[in-house]
Amino acid sequence: MLEVRGLNAWYGESHILHGMDFDVGEGEVVTLLGRNGAGKTTTMKSIMGMVGRREGSIKFKGEQTIRLASNAIARLGIAFCPEERGIFASLDVEENLMLPPQVAAGGLPVQQIFELFPNLRERLRSQGTKLSGGEQQMLAIGRILRTGARLLLLDEPTEGLAPVIVQQIGRTISRLKQQGFTILLVEQNFRFAQTVADRHYIVARPRRGHGPRGPARGQHGTGARVSRSVICNHRNQRR
Ligand code: ATP
Repeated sequence: MLEVRGLNAWYGESHILHGMDFDVGEGEVVTLLGRNGAGKTTTMKSIMGMVGRREGSIKFKGEQTIRLASNAIARLGIAFCPEERGIFASLDVEENLMLPPQVAAGGLPVQQIFELFPNLRERLRSQGTKLSGGEQQMLAIGRILRTGARLLLLDEPTEGLAPVIVQQIGRTISRLKQQGFTILLVEQNFRFAQTVADRHYIVARPRRGHGPRGPARGQHGTGARVSRSVICNHRNQRR
């Protein structure tokens, strides 16, 4: 469903991604694991066209997206749930939920989103600022389920959440997989990742100038001193 080849990305002069290759099959849950600053979020933003400059190939259902703007990429059926969640503080739960446009048929009806996240129904009239971290995360995921997107990019959905909420997010991801969604997940919590994912890629900073695809190129500016590439592809043995 998603095929990434030779992906390079820059923020201004900083060359952050150096030739990443990876795939996500339809209906799979795949994680990008790795340390802070390895480039996991940048990979997701590159898929969504949210970085200053990117090169290489990103095919979604066979269609090349590397030259498309973010709104066009979203309309193909890819949705991004950012680490910071992006809940509008002045809007209530229902308003936040209904805000993104539907980009394709097949989005989950609101009732089904409430079945996944019963807390949201109870908090329907609560303002964004009044929600707990877990409720904000549920709202951020619920919001993209309405849009009709079939590939979900979830950036550290468990970060800072209590274990009981992390379990709930894990169950939700498993249910979404059963419903046919494809999920690319950024995680630092490997224990969590291995309970939900089919496969893992480890995003690492190879030794300076000796990346897995050869010497790092374009070494100018602070962000370009190390190359960041997907180095391993692990099939999850526990599933
Ligand atoms: P984390 O879990 O800390 O977010 P990550 O693996 O997701 O780690 P990224 O956020 O993709 O890493 O960051 C990769 C590199 O890009 C880091 O060195 C970071 O400082 C740099 N970076 C991230 N965002 C920007 C930006 N907007 N402008 C310039 N550099 C950036």
